[in-house]
Amino acid sequence: MEPKKIFLLPGDGIGIEIMNEARKFIAFMNDELKFDFVCEEGLVGGTACNVYGKPISDGDIYRALAADAVLLGSVGGPEWDDLSYDLRPEAGLLRLRKDLQLFANLRPVICYPALSNASSLKSELVEGLDILIVRELTGGIYFGEPKEIIDLGQGNKRAIDTQVYETCEVMRIAKVAFELARTRRGLVTSMEKHNVMKTGLLWKEVVTETHATHYRDVMLSHMLTDAGGMQLVRKPKQFDVIVTDNLFGDLLSDVAGMLTGSLGMLPSASLGSADEVTERQHAIYEPVHGSAPDILGKGIANPIAMIASLAMCFRYSFALNTEANCLEKAISAVLDDGLRTADIYSQGMRKVSTSEMGDAILEKFKKMLS
Ligand code: NAD
Repeated sequence: MEPKKIFLLPGDGIGIEIMNEARKFIAFMNDELKFDFVCEEGLVGGTACNVYGKPISDGDIYRALAADAVLLGSVGGPEWDDLSYDLRPEAGLLRLRKDLQLFANLRPVICYPALSNASSLKSELVEGLDILIVRELTGGIYFGEPKEIIDLGQGNKRAIDTQVYETCEVMRIAKVAFELARTRRGLVTSMEKHNVMKTGLLWKEVVTETHATHYRDVMLSHMLTDAGGMQLVRKPKQFDVIVTDNLFGDLLSDVAGMLTGSLGMLPSASLGSADEVTERQHAIYEPVHGSAPDILGKGIANPIAMIASLAMCFRYSFALNTEANCLEKAISAVLDDGLRTADIYSQGMRKVSTSEMGDAILEKFKKMLS
């Protein structure tokens, strides 16, 4: 078996605490199941600033490019808040995403049955929910030019952001969504605003053509994003894969994430194109949440988003579908047993620490795979 190179970037704050839990699973798979994961470790965010004077070093960028997958904790914290924009911890993340050309952001929205009561929606609306939001990550209004504020004089200014998409950008994200739908329930909903935006018109046209040419076996529907947002909170289980642009994806994935209860539960993956020489598809797997300075060092951070990110890594970077499924089932089983970290605790449940939660999931995972 080829060694599988994972580059670990714990980052700052609770990123370091939850990465410790992810490491336990990799160690178990290497030691007892004879997998050949080779892990290197680097610095990103504030901790990298402290050592290198910048939020990620060139050497660590190189190691991320050379790896099969990057597993990242979280970055940021109050001690780095006053740094200039280029040196802020988040700039390390942005550079990684740019250098690895990660154009597809995948955000699963899964509501574990045991947590359906924690949602802001009625439990019957979210129990068993399993949506995947595919967001375009490198184009659109966050990057389009011109992007500026012009002083018009007499106290008046004009701010401009530009939404730009090209056919090839829409086509490649549509392909990701259709391919993923094939491994799920086979339904893609594309969201844009073709009624008022030229980019929406192009988006709809390209998604429709891509579907007709290559993916007729998948069901495709289109929704205006405002209607889609409404449907997401009205009847979320109607969706399987949602594909949308950078701005709309940013909004919709946060809204959808909250349907499931806690920030500590939400994993993500960002995928790039395959490298022309090595055919390796760059990818970063990370929790959606930040470095949670308010709970740092208390041993109470929820490691589930991190562990679920590792499950995504198994599935998307290494095609280890059995292991990924078992890991997700292990998380679900531990929640069924009533174990809860503080952020998802409710009366009658058993409150556990970060490492107790990690260990309990590992025990279930071991039983499933042994
Ligand atoms: P946050 O996600 O760190 O925390 C928001 C709230 O959720 C806090 O109350 C926190 O305790 C809680 N929380 C988050 N993750 C949790 C977990 N795993 N278990 C239990 N509780 C959890 O967001 P914030 O407080 O706005 O930002 C803190 C720092 O993180 C800032 O510096 C911000 O820039 C950074 N940040 C980084 C990322 C990232 O690394 N991708 C994302 C968001 C924010």
